[in-house]
Formats: sequence, structure tokens, C-alpha cells
Amino acid sequence: MIRTKLKRLLAQIRQAEVAYNRKEGSVLLLAVSKTKTAIEIAQAYSAGQRHFGENYCQEALKKQRELGAYDITWHFIGPIQSNKTKLIAEHFAWVHSVDSLRIAKRLSDQRPESLPALNICIQVNISGEQSKSGIALGELQELCEAVAALPNIKLRGVMAVPLTEDDFECQRKPFRSLYQAVIKLTNYDLDTYSFGMSGDLNAAIAEGSTVVRIGTSLFGNRG
Ligand SMILES: *Cc1c(COP(=O)(O)O)cnc(C)c1O
Repeated sequence: MIRTKLKRLLAQIRQAEVAYNRKEGSVLLLAVSKTKTAIEIAQAYSAGQRHFGENYCQEALKKQRELGAYDITWHFIGPIQSNKTKLIAEHFAWVHSVDSLRIAKRLSDQRPESLPALNICIQVNISGEQSKSGIALGELQELCEAVAALPNIKLRGVMAVPLTEDDFECQRKPFRSLYQAVIKLTNYDLDTYSFGMSGDLNAAIAEGSTVVRIGTSLFGNRG
């Protein structure tokens, strides 16, 4: 079941790459496994999936312990409380949801020396006041400047979660504005656009996504 859905999803991603003149293989599938069990993750793994995203620190750590023998790259994509930064810095390869310098500094300070730099995306709120997480687009350059200077993290790009829209053109618009803003930030070597979920992955890929974060289409509804 998960194997079939994974195959279908990867085919959809490749199709979208072709349709929107994206380089083949330029969009990574991040399997969002929040609320799903270690067994379900293991099923996706055995079908070839290696990158998994989690929103809740304690839940993720439990699954990481259960799946210790698996060669998984773990991404943290949820809201970050400052009392969780140490565990996040110790147990993840990527964090997509950084939205303040204070959190970025803590992650850098708490990243173990024995591990490579923590990959960071800054979460940008591109739907205005209706959504709470993420910085405003106007704050992006200043935060990039400060975050890029931190020693134990590597600033990779941006993450966005726009409001749900059904219309394809409406879905594309916020991704496009953010992409256009980011390509102007040429000082920071940004290569990651964490755009697109189950409902808007084609629009995200059309607008430059390099990582689609997919839960429902792979693992089914979260109930
Ligand atoms: C839950 C979640 C996803 C996955 O959403 P689906 O609609 O299930 O694909 C992606 N990104 C973030 C930040 C999430 O919290």
C-alpha cells in the first residue's frame, strides 16, 4: 500500500518536473511521518524512501530510537519551542521551521561538534496575518544575514506553508513571490525551497520547489 503510493508520488513528482521544465531529480520527496508509526516509516523505507519529516520532538525521538538501525535522514518541520532546541540540534540533519534568530542561535550553540553543520531553512509566512508561523518576507534578508554567520548551522533556503487554496493559479502565486525574493539573495548560497504538501505539490514544483513535504498522499489521512 505505502509502496504503491510512494511509486505513484515519485511518478507525479517526475511528471511535474518535466511539465514545468525542472531538471530531472531536482525535487526531493520528504515523507512527513508525524502521527504515523515506526512500522509505517519502515514500510516506506523498505520501498526506498530515506528522508522523513517530523513535527513533534518527543514523538520523533521515540521513532528514531525504534528505527536506530535505518539509514534515515531526519528533518524537523514543526514549530520550535526553545526548550526543545537542544534535542533538535542533536537528533536531526535538517530544520525547516526556523523563524527567529534566537532559535537559530540556540540550534547553532547546541549542535554537537561531532556532527556536520545543521541544515536550516527559514520559514516565511507568505499568506499574511492569517497564519502565525514564519517571518514576514520583508524580514528575510536581515535574518539570512544573521543566520548565515552562525558557526554550526548551514543556511540552505526557505520553507513556506501557504493557506490552503484549491485553485492551481492561486496556489502558485505565494510560492512565486517567495521564490522571486529568494533568488535575489545571492550572498548566501541558498539552494533549498521547501514548498509543497499533498494538496499543492504541482504548483510548488511549477514555482521552483526543491523539497516537497508529503504526508497524507503517502501515509493516508491522519484522522
Ligand atoms: C503535516 C505537514 C506537512 C504534510 O502535509 P500533508 O498535507 O499531509 O501532505 C507538510 N509540512 C508541514 C510543515 C506539516 O506540518
